[in-house]
Amino acid sequence: MNTAALLADAIGRHDRRALAQAITLVESGLKEHQSQARELLAALPAPDQPALRIGITGPPGAGKSTFIETLGGHLIDRGHSVAVLTVDPSSVVSGGSILGDKTRMPTLSANEKAFVRPSPSSGTEGGVGRFTREAIAVCEAAGFDRVIVETVGVGQSELRAASMTDVFILLLVPGSGDELQGIKRGVMELADLILVNKADGQLAQTANRTVSEYAAATGFLQARTADWKVPVLAMSALKDIGVVEVLEQMEKFFVHVTTAGLLSSRRESQASEALMQALHEGLLDKFLRNEKNADEVERVRRKVAKGQLTPGLAARALIDQFT
Ligand code: GDP
Repeated sequence: MNTAALLADAIGRHDRRALAQAITLVESGLKEHQSQARELLAALPAPDQPALRIGITGPPGAGKSTFIETLGGHLIDRGHSVAVLTVDPSSVVSGGSILGDKTRMPTLSANEKAFVRPSPSSGTEGGVGRFTREAIAVCEAAGFDRVIVETVGVGQSELRAASMTDVFILLLVPGSGDELQGIKRGVMELADLILVNKADGQLAQTANRTVSEYAAATGFLQARTADWKVPVLAMSALKDIGVVEVLEQMEKFFVHVTTAGLLSSRRESQASEALMQALHEGLLDKFLRNEKNADEVERVRRKVAKGQLTPGLAARALIDQFT
């Protein structure tokens, strides 16, 4: 058997080292790895049971990793197995990582029913998060039936995370609901569940007020999921207050989208969008890797910047020139 087939086989036996290796392979920008990754994905065994893909976003420090630790513990108590993947946009921009390099979620990481994948290194070629979808598939094949995709709510990454998950959770902290804590309205529209964390001690009262503010605000938003009123809940990830209620809402949501047939249609449209996005990105990469093309684009870019050409016409002329 070749490497990909051996790996796929080991993943089917829920071998964690194989799982880690496989994720490294699918995230790799190297050409030879990419062809092995394709073989691996094609050879993966079907998951034992359908997994629920849970997206979690929120500003840095809102308590995402604390929440995932607590939520993960409850999920495991209920017989689930939990994989956690991160999409960390900062490693692309700054080379550093908002999510930090230290081991986050130590309790969950040590649990044999859990798999916590640290954020991709800054050296990841091809854009962080581009291959998270593939990493999810590998985790599902390895028997994990709850896959959490975590992202910091500061940029484009939450759109990406929402586009590959079944339920999307926005985690906020008490206070300044009117400023939406730097969270754009667009992100609120992606949420199926809004949580106000740190509702403990002195912050408990403010948390309840924040819940009312957000509940009022969501009333004006178009919910992402038909016939689903987005719950806004106060909880404390640290003190484990209200986390079970969150879990119940999440499972209720799962039942709702499954019985209404929304889960499969959402996944179908997500998969087609992902294909189109990968095509866009792949074609552009290939186009720009050719030096002549890159030079020509740079020449045109300067003209566009000076206002000598409009972007739309310039793009059309470039495309005509090269096709
Ligand atoms: P992340 O950056 O969103 O992953 O946030 P962390 O989970 O690392 O938490 C940031 C800080 O907030 C840490 O000091 C946590 O102990 C604290 N924290 C997280 N959840 C709670 C909570 O429910 N209540 C309180 N009081 N502090 C919390």
